[in-house]
Amino acid sequence: MNEEVSIGIDIGGTKIAAGLVTIEGAVLYKQVVPTATEGKEHIIFQLQQLIQSLLGEAKKIGFRTVKGIGIGTAGQIDFKNGIVRSGTSNIKDWNDIPLKKEIQQAFALPVWIDNDVNVVALAESYLGAAKGYDNVVFLTLGTGIGGAVIQEGKLLHGEWGGAAELGHMSVDRNGPACNCGYKGCLEAYASGTGIANQMKQYFTKKPELYDGPIENITARDVFQWANEGKAFAKSLLDEAIDALAYGTVNIIHAFNPSLLVFGGGIIDQHSWIIPDIQNRVRNLGISSLVQSVSFSKAYFGDEAGVIGAGYQSFLYRENVQKEGASYEG
Ligand SMILES: [Zn+2]
Repeated sequence: MNEEVSIGIDIGGTKIAAGLVTIEGAVLYKQVVPTATEGKEHIIFQLQQLIQSLLGEAKKIGFRTVKGIGIGTAGQIDFKNGIVRSGTSNIKDWNDIPLKKEIQQAFALPVWIDNDVNVVALAESYLGAAKGYDNVVFLTLGTGIGGAVIQEGKLLHGEWGGAAELGHMSVDRNGPACNCGYKGCLEAYASGTGIANQMKQYFTKKPELYDGPIENITARDVFQWANEGKAFAKSLLDEAIDALAYGTVNIIHAFNPSLLVFGGGIIDQHSWIIPDIQNRVRNLGISSLVQSVSFSKAYFGDEAGVIGAGYQSFLYRENVQKEGASYEG
C-alpha cells in the first residue's frame, strides 16, 4: 500500500494535463484534455472532471491519502489567495477567478495555485536541474518567455504572486512593442512569437526578399533559414540571442543567482543557445556577479508542469488554505 500522492494540474492554452504525482516526482497516471475554448466555466468544469477521475484512479492504485491538489496555470496568479488575476490571451476569459475556493469547496482537499513557470521552477528546484541550489533563476523560451526566481531556497512571489515576469523585462526602451503594452521586452525579441514577428516586420519592409505569405512565418522558419546560412535570419537570431544575453545580465545583477536554468520548446530544439548566451554574458556586466553563475538546461520536459504543480501539496503546510500561503521550515 502506497502512502501519499498529490494531484498536479497544468493548465495551458491548448491542453490541460493532470496527473497523480508522488513526492519523488513520479507521474503515476496522467490525463490530458484540450483546453475548453468557451471560457472559464467550461475550464472549471473540466478541472472538476479531471480531479474526480484522478481521485478514483488514486484509490484504484491503492493510495491511502491524496494530500492535495496543486495547479499551475499561465497568467498572473494571486498565489496567496488562490485567484487567477489576469490570464493569458491563449485562454479565453481566464481572469478574476477564485479558483482555489472553487476547487476546495468541490473536493474538500487543500488546493494551491501558482503561475505555470513557478511550478516548473519548483520541480526543477526540488527534483531536477537546480537540486541543491538555493539561488536560481529559470527562463523558459517558448511561444512566450516565462521566468521564475528561487531566492534563498524559496520561490519569489512578491506581494501577491506576480513577481518574476522576466520575459517582460525591457532590454530597449526604443524597442518593438510587446503584447503586454511595454516596449522592448525580452519576449518581443527572443520568444517564438517575438522572433516570428521580427521576421515578418523585416520582410514587410523588404518584400523583394520573400515571396511567400509573410503572415505564416514562424520562429521555426527563421531557425531553418539561419541553418541554411541565410544572412537575414542569422542576424535576426543574433539580435535575439544578444537580447537574451543582456536580459540575463539584468537578471544576474538583480538576483545574484548561482545557477540559471533554461527550458522551453526553443531550448529543447536548439540547445546551442545556452552556451552562446553564456559566452556573451561573460563579457557583459559586473564581472564578480556574471562570472560566478552556472548555466544549465532544464531537466524535466513536458511533464514538469504537472510534477511541479503536484509537488506544491508536499511542500506547503496544510493549514495554508485557511491562512494564506507560507513555506514550511
Ligand atoms: Zn512585454
